[in-house]
Amino acid sequence: MRPNFENTAIAFELKSDSQLERAYFLFKLISKEPLVRIGTAVTNFAIKAHLPVEGLIRATVFDHFCGGVNEKDCLPIIDNMYGNGVYSILDYSAEGKSVDNQFDFAMEKTLEILDFVKEKDAMPFAVFKPTGFGRFKLFEKVSQGSELSEDEQAEWGRLVNRFDRVCQKAHQLDVALLIDAEESWMQDAADNLVLDMMRKYNKEKAIVYNTFQMYRWDRMGYIVKLHEMAKEEGFKIGAKVVRGAYMEKENDRAEEKGYESPICKNKRLTDENFDAAIDYMMEHLEDFSIFSGTHNEKSTLKLVDLMEKRGIESNDGRIWFGQLFGMSDHITYNLAAQGYNAVKYVPYGPVRDVMPYLIRRAEENTSVAGQTSRELALIEKERKRRKLED
Ligand SMILES: Cc1cc2nc3c(=O)[nH]c(=O)nc-3n(C[C@H](O)[C@H](O)[C@H](O)COP(=O)(O)OP(=O)(O)OC[C@H]3O[C@@H](n4cnc5c(N)ncnc54)[C@H](O)[C@@H]3O)c2cc1C
Repeated sequence: MRPNFENTAIAFELKSDSQLERAYFLFKLISKEPLVRIGTAVTNFAIKAHLPVEGLIRATVFDHFCGGVNEKDCLPIIDNMYGNGVYSILDYSAEGKSVDNQFDFAMEKTLEILDFVKEKDAMPFAVFKPTGFGRFKLFEKVSQGSELSEDEQAEWGRLVNRFDRVCQKAHQLDVALLIDAEESWMQDAADNLVLDMMRKYNKEKAIVYNTFQMYRWDRMGYIVKLHEMAKEEGFKIGAKVVRGAYMEKENDRAEEKGYESPICKNKRLTDENFDAAIDYMMEHLEDFSIFSGTHNEKSTLKLVDLMEKRGIESNDGRIWFGQLFGMSDHITYNLAAQGYNAVKYVPYGPVRDVMPYLIRRAEENTSVAGQTSRELALIEKERKRRKLED
């Protein structure tokens, strides 16, 4: 059955009254764009200056958008959500690292999580970010085809090895592994690496998933090209389809450096591109597994309808719907209530390391980005239903 996204009783069933009030307060606050701009600047400064702001961050944005500072913190949340049919993806979200031992640490974390995923039915995927395993600048250099020094070549070798170790383990354990996508000027190197991993480990089914950011106008062409390679060489494609989280940065850089922005000219074109990717993959489901990572209700219902039209079971293992923890519960929980594979990304990590992630979420939820009004309206509706209004 088609999920009903208006059902706030299902959407917020796991939230206590006080958690609902915190969400209301938080979304009201971050709907104000100037406040978010000032807030993020002040917070960044306070963290760098080692001012004691971590407690404040924890009590507000952190606890709403993150599962905790370590895996143990996240476990009760994971179990709780699974009780309502919602799966979890533990996402170690420490960002902006730049030295080898930190990359090794992130790799070890991912290897550990793969073991966890194998054991826990509530966790269907592991995930990592390319720049969690290696330096951004190095990805950038390789993407540009620049020559690497001897040291850099060795560094790149270690990076490739990290990718290979986690993908190999995922394959051995038969556990699916998502790889996030980042800024376009480092992404070619990551795409080529993930392609190699798919060639190696996706022979029988999709174990390794790359991410396709459909705000990039070149992505549809890339998907079709990748599909041709997959058919010819005999591997499956794991595809996380998203719109993309770095739009402003992408447009600013393109303008500053004077090249054509890789981002679609407007939101409608991004939406059409997202739809086109889902249509294409659904038409070739023999070669694709789809992870639709979106908070967009229309995109979600479109995929639900396509499944229905093609007679695909709601819990078919090749199709997943993902939202971020702390956002769009009305989509996740109502999908799960109808038996769809609905999953939350649950970010975790030390507060200061998770800040770039939190700032992206705050920015994405300003009134300008437009998502908050919907989130707020639903929270207000549920407050009314629970008679919590002041
Ligand atoms: C489970 C999950 C995993 C994710 N993983 C990644 C990842 O690996 N990499 C990544 O980059 N992002 C990732 N994201 C974030 C995602 O890319 C979006 O930023 C976020 O989900 C908002 O898009 P939407 O489809 O949910 O909603 P919508 O509100 O429908 O769309 C907002 C998005 O549309 C695009 N957009 C807005 N205005 C314009 C415009 N004027 N012109 C062109 N495009 C426009 C932007 O991409 C913007 O983020 C993930 C999201 C989820 C839920």
